[in-house]
Amino acid sequence: MAEEKNAAIRRAEEVLYKTYNRFPVIFDHGDGVYLYDSEGKEYLDFGAGIAVMGLGYNDPEYNMDLKQQMDKLLHCSNLFYNRPAIDGGERLLKASGMEKVFFTNSGTEAVEGALKIAKRYAYNRDGHGGHEIIAMNHSFHGRSLGALSVTGNDHYQEPFAPLLPGVKFADFNDLESVKALISDKTCAVIMETIQGEGGIYPATEEFLKGVRTLCDEHDMVLILDEIQCGMGRSGSMFAWQEYGVRPDVMTVAKALGNGVPIGAFLACGKAAWAMKPGDHGTTYGGNPFVCAAADTVLRLFEERRILEHVKSMGDYLWEKLEGFSRSHDCVTGHRGKGLIQGLEFDRPVGDVVKKALLEEQLVLISAGANVIRFVPPLVITQEHVDEMMKKMEASV
Ligand SMILES: *Cc1c(COP(=O)(O)O)cnc(C)c1O
Repeated sequence: MAEEKNAAIRRAEEVLYKTYNRFPVIFDHGDGVYLYDSEGKEYLDFGAGIAVMGLGYNDPEYNMDLKQQMDKLLHCSNLFYNRPAIDGGERLLKASGMEKVFFTNSGTEAVEGALKIAKRYAYNRDGHGGHEIIAMNHSFHGRSLGALSVTGNDHYQEPFAPLLPGVKFADFNDLESVKALISDKTCAVIMETIQGEGGIYPATEEFLKGVRTLCDEHDMVLILDEIQCGMGRSGSMFAWQEYGVRPDVMTVAKALGNGVPIGAFLACGKAAWAMKPGDHGTTYGGNPFVCAAADTVLRLFEERRILEHVKSMGDYLWEKLEGFSRSHDCVTGHRGKGLIQGLEFDRPVGDVVKKALLEEQLVLISAGANVIRFVPPLVITQEHVDEMMKKMEASV
């Protein structure tokens, strides 16, 4: 068994382009909040495939809907209409209070579309291009060149320069630093409502409301990236809904399809009509198969009252992690909301994550060097949290 597995890993390293340092585990199947590897070992999953598997693995109703759609129609292109895109789109607008949706294949593509709306809006208004965008330090918006241009991380950006011109970086949760960058060329502010990869930092209410006001005063488009913190993870459907503000454009992906590749950008008000036929497109985006997944996910969220569950599980996880922080001097911070929480340590957490996986069979993921990020399937129970705490304790 071990030999077979090692041979498969060697083949993987020969075949797959090496942009990841992977852990030596081959996952074979999943059920609920557990993953099973090629040797049949069971792992408790607190990473959910990086905040993707909100409803967990192998959900019978979800699987049934996708199998039925697979037998009907997988793809037909955006030259025609398809029912799942209409149904899923309506549900997404209802859940978000936005007015228009465009389906993409990934998060980074949703960000590309959002940036294009902002540029197009300013172009329509001024009759020329050359506009600037304000983004945040320590942000993450994806790996394609536009999204990378607004990702405030030198390490990711440097080898690929020059990127999009006219992008300036402010400090997250520092309103004055945003104000200082505004010029008559600025067309948008883009930020995550809760910074994910950067270490789980929620926007303060003062900051988000302040940025909203600045965007109104200067006719800029506010883009909120909800790719990681959205889809119920914060305890609200979208994290900004707790702040009493609304973005002009929002991006979603990760948990939207519960495992099938789908993202979306949504717009309202002044941003909802900025792009015209011919301005944007995608071959796969919004096809019947992935939209059937999103439609089912949104339906099951409602039927199963997932948001209420996230709120109560989030409180329970918060209490447990607070207890852990108090009893461990190496923990220097605890942040987050609902089921997106982070524990910051006074040292890199790579070894803890590795030990948890290989010795305790607990999937944890880091966010930056020093933060363990807790983004489990939203359907976890108290017992799963207790089990995770024991395994983490043993790994630290
Ligand atoms: C993951 C992520 C992205 C990129 O999504 P991909 O599907 O990997 O392209 C963008 N923004 C945020 C906040 C993310 O967490």
